[in-house]
Amino acid sequence: MKEYLFRPAHIYYELPIFATQNDITKHLTYMKYTLSLLIISLISIPIFGQSLSVAEKFVQPVYQELPLGAIQPEGWLKHQLQIMRDGTSGHLDEAYAKVGKDNGWLGGTGDAWEETPYWLDGAVPLAWLLKDVTLQKKVKKYIDWTIDHQRPSGYFGGITKFEQQNDTIVTVKNLKEAGDDWWPKMVMLKVMKQYFQATGDQRVIDFMKRYFQFQINTLKNAPLGQWTEWATSRGTENVMMAQWLFQITKDESLLELASLIESQSFNWSEWLGNRDWVIWAAAYQNGDRWMHRHGVNVGMAIKSPAINYQRTGDEKYLKDLKTGFSDLMTLHGLPMGIFSADEDLHGNDPTQGTELCAIVESMYSLEEIIGITGDPFYMDALERMTFNALPSQTTDDYNKKQYFQIANQVQISRGVFNFSLPFDREMNNVLGMRSGYTCCLANMHQGWPKFALHLWYKNAKNGLAALAFSPNTIKTTVGADNTEIEIVENTTYPFDEKIQFDLKMKNPVEFPLDIRIPAWCKNPSIKINGKRLPVENNGQIISINRKWSNLDQLVVNFPMEVSISNWGRNSSAVERGPLVYALKIKERWEKGNDEKEGDYFSVFPESEWNYGLVQDAVMNPKEHLKVTEVKTANSDFVWNLAHVPIEITVQGKQIPGWKAVDGVAFQPVTDRDGIYKGKVSENTNQLTLVPIGCTKIRIVAFPVVK
Ligand SMILES: [Zn+2]
Repeated sequence: MKEYLFRPAHIYYELPIFATQNDITKHLTYMKYTLSLLIISLISIPIFGQSLSVAEKFVQPVYQELPLGAIQPEGWLKHQLQIMRDGTSGHLDEAYAKVGKDNGWLGGTGDAWEETPYWLDGAVPLAWLLKDVTLQKKVKKYIDWTIDHQRPSGYFGGITKFEQQNDTIVTVKNLKEAGDDWWPKMVMLKVMKQYFQATGDQRVIDFMKRYFQFQINTLKNAPLGQWTEWATSRGTENVMMAQWLFQITKDESLLELASLIESQSFNWSEWLGNRDWVIWAAAYQNGDRWMHRHGVNVGMAIKSPAINYQRTGDEKYLKDLKTGFSDLMTLHGLPMGIFSADEDLHGNDPTQGTELCAIVESMYSLEEIIGITGDPFYMDALERMTFNALPSQTTDDYNKKQYFQIANQVQISRGVFNFSLPFDREMNNVLGMRSGYTCCLANMHQGWPKFALHLWYKNAKNGLAALAFSPNTIKTTVGADNTEIEIVENTTYPFDEKIQFDLKMKNPVEFPLDIRIPAWCKNPSIKINGKRLPVENNGQIISINRKWSNLDQLVVNFPMEVSISNWGRNSSAVERGPLVYALKIKERWEKGNDEKEGDYFSVFPESEWNYGLVQDAVMNPKEHLKVTEVKTANSDFVWNLAHVPIEITVQGKQIPGWKAVDGVAFQPVTDRDGIYKGKVSENTNQLTLVPIGCTKIRIVAFPVVK
């Protein structure tokens, strides 16, 4: 119960999700009056709290993850993963010395911090998704070394400097001087979990038991922040892993450990819930508490309230989560479904950038949140982020990446741009392997594989739930007798409105099949063997509980309508279904080299980009915007201009004064009606928009003109 003693503010959490300034003032007054109540609560909670054990408070996830290997990617998604397997995701150890031969996670004297676990966190699921034995063998070397070299005390990781110099090993007693950072171990625990989900290797469970016992024995003396603030700011990962093991072993001491780690970590749940934090992060961009608004920290932290809800059963955390996520996307959100993170949260101006690590970490957080809460709100958010923010930040071969991508990105080049930091090297925007920082080079591999793993979950009745969509085949067991079943999900979603599920099984079996209806879809239809089911609302999950038979066919149709959404500086973005569309700009690629950061590409515009959308089109998108299916996203699909499956045309006019300044397309100002009133060309042009994921340079947040 100790966490309550450190967290009195949790008790007076009552703010509505969208509180006004007036609400906040009222609430502060209320807080003063309830101070006495608070004291009573603090005394009474430990007494009354005893009626429920820590284990009884634990909330089972609404949707459970499937074993790694149950879902096989197909079509365009499989191709994406194959590209990665053939590129850096499958070969980072060969292409990048830091995770190669002399690596600390293989017993060498080289790097033993975050980058190798980052890479494995994507390479492990990739190896089993593609059933690629070569890659499985490769990643297993790191896992084996780590398990085999766990110290008798339970400590694990690279041989520390102290151990090397003193010919000793880390124990409970000497940890403070002999040990090293808690943070990279959190990532390695996530790697181990996935390896266990793929193989059932019991050594992982024993390894984790010993490590968490070690943490129980040492954390009070050598707390999470002993070595770095990264560990304090990212403690949620550690909490999550202790709670994962609890679900297997039912050992209550793991939940007590989880509470202890949470109490030593940044208080993200409270910050996300109480709104001061996000307002402060929008208002101040100085050196004060910058770790609190570091975009990658925030991406990891958004799952903190869900993880705390799981452990405590306290529903106020779910409210904290929705308040925090909504605030974040309102104050710092960009049209492609991610918040600005260049490196810090930096407001919602379309000239801001996002770090690739922030995207893949936010995606993973959403995948965890979805399992725990079952809330379709986060499923829509996950698809938006995955299909729009993720694809454009890497090269076709997945060997190069941008440290920061920009929403309205009219050129990719060296430069300072509009980033908060660290811009002095001018390498943050180019497409390179080692440009910017190498964290993203190591961490970017988890994005696509983990998304593929979270297309399906198990529901509580041993049925299945299709919560995000893409082509795949799932093979698993369902129903009371664990009947074997195979479902082929035939689609080119997110480009196709139609998703066809073909069921195969030996014997008929009864189980609920849950299908998410995206919130953007106003007129969904679901047919079983040609017969239409009633579907009332979007933004929900439909559960179809019936006895399913071999060759049953479920066809889902999500009609995609064009719509316009509003973004920072009164800009407008064109959307259709799960995709956001951006101006197609002719690209000119240029190769460059930096002495320290290696080869890189710049991309420059070869066609005009300075257009505003015509107001009539924005007011009446269905009438004015024309959708054309260009080609099908088959198994040779790549997220680039050559493979664009769908184009949208819209009327626009040029704004002659809108020019890039040092590569930045500063957003034209608008009046209260959202109209740019400066000089606008009289000619109307037909603009072609393509999915933003297929672009490298683009305008996505448009000014509106008369
Ligand atoms: Zn990064």
